[in-house]
Amino acid sequence: MYYDQDISSVFGELRTSEKGLNPEDAEKRLEEYGRNELKEKEEASIFKLFISQFKSILILILVIASIVSALLGEAVDAAVILFTVFLAGVLGFVQEYRAERAIELLKSLTSPEATVIRNGNEKKIPSTELVPGDIILLQTGDRIPADARIIEEYNLKVDESSLTGESVPVQKVTDAFPSGTSEADRKNMVYAGTAVAYGRGKAVITATGMKTSFGELAGLLGTIERSRTPLQESLDKFGRWIGAATIVIVAFVAVLGVFLGFPPLDMFLWGVALAVAAIPEALPAVVTVGLGLGVRRMVKRHALVRKLPSVETLGATDVICSDKTGTLTQNKMTVERLYVNGQTLKVTGVGYNPEGEFLKGDLEKNSREDGDTEVSGNDIHLRVLLLGAALCNDSNLYNEEDGWKIRGDPTEAALVVAAAKAGLEKTELDLNYPRLAEIPFSSESKRMTTFNRLEDGPGNFLDSRLVAFSKGAPEVILGSCTKIFLDGEIKALTPEMKQEISEQVKELADQALRVMAFSFRPFEEGFSPERVSSGEIPAEKVEEDMVFSGLTGMRDPPREEVKAAIRTCEDAGIKTVMITGDHKITASAIARELGILKENDLTLTGSELNSLEDKEFEDKVERVSVYARVYPAHKLRVIEALQKKGYVVAMTGDGVNDAPALKAADMGIAMGITGTDVSKEASSMILTDDNFASIVSAVEEGRNIFKNIKNFIVYGLTCHIGEVLIVLIAILGWQILPLMAVQILWINLITDGLPPMALSVEPPDRGLMRQKPRNVEEGLITRREITAGLGIGGLITVQALIVLVWALDSGFPINKLQTMVFTLVVLSEMFNAFNWRSDRYSVFSLGFFTNKALIYAVLTTIVLQLMVVYVPFLQFAFGTVSLSFSEWGVILALASTTFISVEIIKYLTGRKDSRKNMNKVRHSSRPRL
Ligand code: ATP
Repeated sequence: MYYDQDISSVFGELRTSEKGLNPEDAEKRLEEYGRNELKEKEEASIFKLFISQFKSILILILVIASIVSALLGEAVDAAVILFTVFLAGVLGFVQEYRAERAIELLKSLTSPEATVIRNGNEKKIPSTELVPGDIILLQTGDRIPADARIIEEYNLKVDESSLTGESVPVQKVTDAFPSGTSEADRKNMVYAGTAVAYGRGKAVITATGMKTSFGELAGLLGTIERSRTPLQESLDKFGRWIGAATIVIVAFVAVLGVFLGFPPLDMFLWGVALAVAAIPEALPAVVTVGLGLGVRRMVKRHALVRKLPSVETLGATDVICSDKTGTLTQNKMTVERLYVNGQTLKVTGVGYNPEGEFLKGDLEKNSREDGDTEVSGNDIHLRVLLLGAALCNDSNLYNEEDGWKIRGDPTEAALVVAAAKAGLEKTELDLNYPRLAEIPFSSESKRMTTFNRLEDGPGNFLDSRLVAFSKGAPEVILGSCTKIFLDGEIKALTPEMKQEISEQVKELADQALRVMAFSFRPFEEGFSPERVSSGEIPAEKVEEDMVFSGLTGMRDPPREEVKAAIRTCEDAGIKTVMITGDHKITASAIARELGILKENDLTLTGSELNSLEDKEFEDKVERVSVYARVYPAHKLRVIEALQKKGYVVAMTGDGVNDAPALKAADMGIAMGITGTDVSKEASSMILTDDNFASIVSAVEEGRNIFKNIKNFIVYGLTCHIGEVLIVLIAILGWQILPLMAVQILWINLITDGLPPMALSVEPPDRGLMRQKPRNVEEGLITRREITAGLGIGGLITVQALIVLVWALDSGFPINKLQTMVFTLVVLSEMFNAFNWRSDRYSVFSLGFFTNKALIYAVLTTIVLQLMVVYVPFLQFAFGTVSLSFSEWGVILALASTTFISVEIIKYLTGRKDSRKNMNKVRHSSRPRL
């Protein structure tokens, strides 16, 4: 057991060291110990998936029907019915298999990563490749990937509630414990499945995969929630309702048919076929397919959906609340201004390249101008400021073949770059002035402090001293300063000086710069900083009475595509809200630049929000576009207020403390690159590029998926209504069966088969992001859909009856009559499929060839139909006869009216809509908020 040994013997036993394993050794161990994953329950095999297609009651009824026909000597009917059952099964299987693949893909994309040290180098690898002996780095928000022994820690606290139920995080230590210490008290161990709540540390892995103590709890991130969506639920209900109605009608007509003298077997088979055709039994499955395929398209647009039902929510989003740094902006920080010794300097240079100058002069410009004077990197004030900036810092800078790269937080890296411009290299500083303790940054404290010993000091009054360096939000740092480093001396910080500094902060923030302040405090010998790390001395006791050393102002340019994305949101009736820990003025300046903050909009800070009563806040919430200096907990309040007003809220987050907000939002969105494991687990969707624009693409896909699902469902509905009406009216009006049972089954198979699949891949149309968000209260099938169903279903019926009357008048035999009606229905439904590419736009305005899948689907169906009508063997099976060229002509002309009339209606309503829309745009540019 590793908890009772000191670190060196743990290393010995695990045959590893501080530098970690070498790659070959790691590979060997991976083979020996297996992957760091849990043996999942046996996956649903392909065979099982196939068999599951035949488990529905309707299929069972069909099988019984075929047995009955076989027993009564109707072998052909029996065979054809069985064949259609088989085909339906294959089709269902292919669809579900594709959806299943899409979900599997997501699972592999969301599997977690860990940072390991191998051969002395840090690198990120999939957690499944970890082996015993690997050294891993742990930081706030990480899900612990395997059981491990702590070898280094800075205030490391681990949330073990997933194991113990205890919600207070456990402080971890590196010391060995006596043998026999109970598992819960082994505070030098961390366990797979728990999460880092605070601080950071290093640990050596002792057990992986199924060997971990609580292995079964890990691996949360790789799971995709597949609970049924509200849409599927309501479709289920809808399906049952239609099913019951159909059975009543069909049974009634079948009995009537027998009274009218039709053979009972015919009526039985026909009743079964019609019921099968009319009951939308496949709907929920087809919806899953629609969602699954949509989800796969979203992956291409950098959005990983973790909970399938949220795809629906996504399409209905009213408000997107987004973090600023990294999501709306590029998170590529560059220090452009310094405020030291009572003056503002500009810092030149590009990106992370550590070359640049410190200039006094024309602050309107960023480059060197005539008349500017250089301030040497040796200036003592500059050095003290930048020394703190580089030491109180966890990031670093590297020169690689293709340029300068950073590791760590870009805000901190920008400071490392600025220090390097003054000749202060972080790597060298770290060696010379080692860090003894630290108080890590948190979004709540908005500051960070380190304790360094300045042995062979920088050649000034800090030499050989133990110094605390702090950096953080200006008001926080200033609040803890009583002195200032000015004109080479430490002086008292007067209220006037504080005022002057605050004005500087405002001036820098006004230029959309992110402002940070710096301070330091030398300690007397005898002070032991470890007591701060261990919590013995509270942070406030050391982060007080500090010396102010200066300010930095850094630029974080907005992401280029974000402006357009925000405009798209506006057109789509979606409000964008910025939520940031940054300064109010900086946040407002950037929000204005991006088009988030408009003339009459409000900006609220966290403390202003605290002072508002719930009611007061709710009255304002719709007008607030920017929340600045907020804590993660404020996000919850914003969500609640918006939800109370009936809005569907999407919220982004990346930190551990964002998890509650991500859960509470209708759509919790985590950051794939910078996000912590904990935030990802709490989210419904992960952005693989951390980019706001990807949220907007996802919303568009979400709307499109919903639109496509709705369209193919209504398509099916129109077809089914047509089929039932035709048969009903023909029997009642002419005492004729216009379609044979097998023909009805065939129609059902091909209309429910290929075209809906093709409709589910219809690309987004131009109007998708110009409409208001869907009202979630409103069901899928509204009056509009029912009208369309009855209208188009009625039209197909009229066409069929015309053919029927024509055939009767011409004295055609019943076979021929049925073949003609049969062909008409199939063709008419193919024309109808084109209608449902969009419920409002003409197919020609969408581009006739933009959905190639549908063209192939329709052509395949027509070829199949030609075979059924002309191939002798199939004629025998389906009771068809050949049709003449002119008969085809008439049928085709009739069937095409299904398409032509809908196109005309779309044209007329489209004109009306656009007139209405113009008025709307004139009256208010924001339809909803
Ligand atoms: P967003 O919420 O938009 O992602 P943010 O990154 O500005 O914004 P936080 O990370 O909570 O939000 O930072 C809040 C403030 O804390 C910053 O404005 C800055 O002043 C300070 N800060 C940020 N990073 C550090 C750090 N590493 N050390 C010390 N202070 C920091």
